[in-house]
This record gives sequence, C-alpha cells and structure tokens, in this order.
Amino acid sequence: MDEFDLLVIGSGSGLDVANVAANHGQSVAVVEKGPLGGTCLNRGCIPSKLLLYHADVLETIERADEFHIDATVDDIAFAEIVREVTEEVEADAESIRRGLQSSSAHELFEGEGRFVDERTVEISGGEDDGTRLRADTVLIAAGTRPSVPDIDGLEETDYLTSTEALQLESQPDHLVIVGGGYIAAELGHFFGTFGTDVTIIGRRPNLLPEADEAVATAFTDRYADRFTVHTGHAATAVSETDGTVTVEARPYEYGPDSGILEDKDPVTVSGDELLIAAGRVPNTDTLNLEATGVKTDARGFIETDEYLQTTADDVWALGDIAGEYLLKHSANHEARAAAQNIFGDDLQPVDYSAMPFAVFASPEVAGVGALEQDLRAAGREYATNTYRYENTARGDAMHAEGFVKVLIDLEGEILGCHIIGPEASSLVQEVVVAMKAGSGTVQDIRDAVHIHPALPEVVQRAFSGGFTRGDDGDHHHG
Ligand SMILES: Cc1cc2nc3c(=O)[nH]c(=O)nc-3n(C[C@H](O)[C@H](O)[C@H](O)COP(=O)(O)OP(=O)(O)OC[C@H]3O[C@@H](n4cnc5c(N)ncnc54)[C@H](O)[C@@H]3O)c2cc1C
Repeated sequence: MDEFDLLVIGSGSGLDVANVAANHGQSVAVVEKGPLGGTCLNRGCIPSKLLLYHADVLETIERADEFHIDATVDDIAFAEIVREVTEEVEADAESIRRGLQSSSAHELFEGEGRFVDERTVEISGGEDDGTRLRADTVLIAAGTRPSVPDIDGLEETDYLTSTEALQLESQPDHLVIVGGGYIAAELGHFFGTFGTDVTIIGRRPNLLPEADEAVATAFTDRYADRFTVHTGHAATAVSETDGTVTVEARPYEYGPDSGILEDKDPVTVSGDELLIAAGRVPNTDTLNLEATGVKTDARGFIETDEYLQTTADDVWALGDIAGEYLLKHSANHEARAAAQNIFGDDLQPVDYSAMPFAVFASPEVAGVGALEQDLRAAGREYATNTYRYENTARGDAMHAEGFVKVLIDLEGEILGCHIIGPEASSLVQEVVVAMKAGSGTVQDIRDAVHIHPALPEVVQRAFSGGFTRGDDGDHHHG
C-alpha cells in the first residue's frame, strides 16, 4: 500500500490544496478520473467563456449599423472556433498533468477513487487499477456532473449536456434547451448568436431564478425577444425520429404546491439537437462513502462544518461537492481556507460573505448579496434604488440597456447589488470590495471618485440617493 501525508480526490480546486501541501514538504497523492484541472477548465467556465467571447464579437459586428457603420459578416468558421477552444483547454490540462508527473512531491493516480475505509482509497481503471492508497489526511474535491432529469423517453434519445455542447463542432439549426439557469442562458446566447434557433423550456416563472427578481424578469423579457421561451413549463416527454427531437412540456406551477398543471394544454417543440441543462448532481455516488463516516445531505452533497471538515476525522471536502456555491471562485476561496485549516495552527471558518456571481450571456448579469424577494419574504426593512445605464454618459455612448439595482438597510448598509447590462461581471466587483473590505455602506461607493465618463458611474449613481423603502414603510433618502 502506498502511504501519503495528503490524498486529494479531484484535480479542480483540490489541486490548490495539494500544491500547498507539496510546498510544505508533504507527500501528496492526487486521484483524478478525468482530464486534469477539473470541470472549470475542461467543461465549464473556461471553454464556455472562450466560446462566448466569439459570440460577443459577432454581436458587436451585428450591432454596427446602430452606429452608422455598414458591416457584414462573410463567413464564420464555427467548427474552427470550437476546435481551437477544445485544443486550448486540452493543452492546459496536459500541462497540469506534466507538471504533476514531474513533481517530486506529488504522485498522480489516473482513475476513479473509491473509499475502502476512511483513510484508504482504491483506484479503479487506468494503469493504477487496483492500487490502494492510504493517507493521514484526505480531501474530497470530486465536484458535480450534469443532472439528467427523469423525462419520459429521454434515455432512448440522443441529447447533449453542457459537456458535449461545448465541443459540438456542427452548429444545430434548432436547439431545444431544457432548463432555465445560467448554463442554459449562456449556451443559448452562444448558439443563438451564431444563428441557431433556440427554444428554452424552464420550470420557474423566470429564467435565471437564482438572480434578483427584477433582473430575472428583465432577462427573461430580453430572451423572449431573442428566442422562443417557455417559462413555467416542465419537459415531460421526449422522442426522436429521423434526427428530429420533439419535447412535450406541460405548464408547471412553482411554489409551495409545485407541480404540473394537468388541466392546462402542453406545448410541443422540436429541434435537431436537445440540450439538457437542468442543474448539477454531486459525484458522491462514485466514492463509496458508505465505507467512511462521511455524511451527505438529502441531495447527496457532503456535509461539512464551517471549517470544511466532514463528519469523519481528518477527511475534508470543498468545492461543488460540498454544495455551498457551485462556482469556481467559491471553490478556490474554500481551497485557500481548507489549506489554512489543514496546515495552519488554528481553525478559521470560511467567510462566504459577499459571494458574487455572474452570467456571461447577453445581456450580462451579475449580483452579490441579498435578493429583494428574499428580503421581502424575511420581512426585513430595506430600501432600494435602481439606475439605468442609458442615463450615464458612457452607457449612452454604448447604446447600453440595463440597470444597477441596490438594496440597503435603513442605516445605509449594503445588502445586495444586482446588475443587468454590459460588463455587469466587472461592475459588480467594486460592490464586493465595499461589502468585504470597506465599511460596507453606500458611502464607500458614493464618496469614492469615479472616472467620468466611464461605465462604473452607473454603479455610483445607483448608490447615490433616491432610495425608496422597499418594504411597506415610508420613503427614505439614503
Ligand atoms: C458549463 C459550465 C460553465 C461554468 N461556468 C462557470 C463560470 O463562469 N464561473 C464559475 O465560477 N463557475 C462556473 N462553472 C462552475 C465551475 O466549473 C465549478 O464550480 C468548479 O469547477 C468546481 O470545482 P471543484 O474543484 O469543486 O470540482 P471540479 O472542477 O468538478 O473537479 C472535480 C474533479 O474530480 C474528478 N472526480 C470526480 N469523481 C472522482 C472519483 N471518484 N475519482 C477521481 N476523480 C474524480 C472529476 O473528474 C473532476 O475533474 C461552470 C460549470 C459548467 C458546467
């Protein structure tokens, strides 16, 4: 049996902890069943954002006539775009692999890891098949995979998940997307901009249901202009004949009595490709956790305490599989905290405050902090203000549409900020800094000098007064 100081399952953000251990002079085993670098690098953030930037360039050219510039697109080498992106991430994964193989501190085991007991993992598949590894400390960072919902006929139908969609070299004529979250929104934008007809079926009343309701509503309206959107519908049956996929979707009520409204008529849509973008499930079922004391919650995510310790001694977990925020910057943040807690002298809880998110669709969306619907549901006192891009000089120059919405408490503390419009993912960052490193009040943003006329003025204006009580209280000027 091979013995190590640390054993890490999963080479996404888990690798950051492995590298800290190696720098501390520890021996580290890394177990990975897929390409090195995890979901973000190989089938998530990186390929999606590389592809989406091509769509953004095309969209800019297509809007040129608004600026009295006559531009035409002669040719789009779609397959070439996708191939180049695939090659770029494959090269990055390979370079991580070579780095690990040439390191004297790390040992890489390429195969699926399954627990034999709390500190022992057996490799299945690959050259190391059957090898057993034992370590003093184990870190589970095995991520998630696409969730495949139970839809009649789906098993007999060819469908894509995000993994395959990101590598699809032939552009669909008509893509049907089941799911209304950020992956559906981003991939809809990518294929749609390149000319694919896109139909989106989402169960919730709005697309991007995890966003603030004002942003989600505005986003859904914009997508309904661009694409065929059936929100409030659940896909119930799928069939395929001669390369045509047909999806039946039934009206769906979301809420305490969630369910299909049987008395309402279904809609039927068809396309030549079907993308299932219905969320993610944790890879805990691949790990034989039954052999350990590691507990999972009802959805299969690993239970951890505020330090990222699991319910088994010296077994830690982080990232998607711990189920806090399924985002790469959250996994990386947890990796820093886990490394400190595993190798440091005292335990520090992970600070999840001001965790932002972004959706790189068109329009772009980003947000941080509380959502208005949650404040209302919690009966909180709050005030809100919204400022539109069009009313700033730079927004006007860009013909930008969208808004920044701010939520504060009655003392002026920032509770949340939600943005829809160009560069939302960059604009939200100053709010994150104010919430995390500043006083956390509107003054941080209002009183800082903002470059004129640059886009962040829309953020500053949104924070600069005109606040209205959002609950049923009186007017308040923050
Ligand atoms: C299409 C898409 C777009 C995304 N875009 C963004 C974005 O723009 N921004 C953002 O913040 N996040 C984005 N994400 C989410 C992001 O990819 C994840 O939050 C992040 O990768 C989680 O990192 P992780 O280290 O927890 O897990 P992962 O990166 O999933 O790494 C887990 C690794 O464990 C391996 N593994 C699993 N089980 C075993 C086993 N039993 N034995 C051995 N190895 C195993 C897997 O092969 C995988 O490589 C996106 C995800 C998708 C799917």
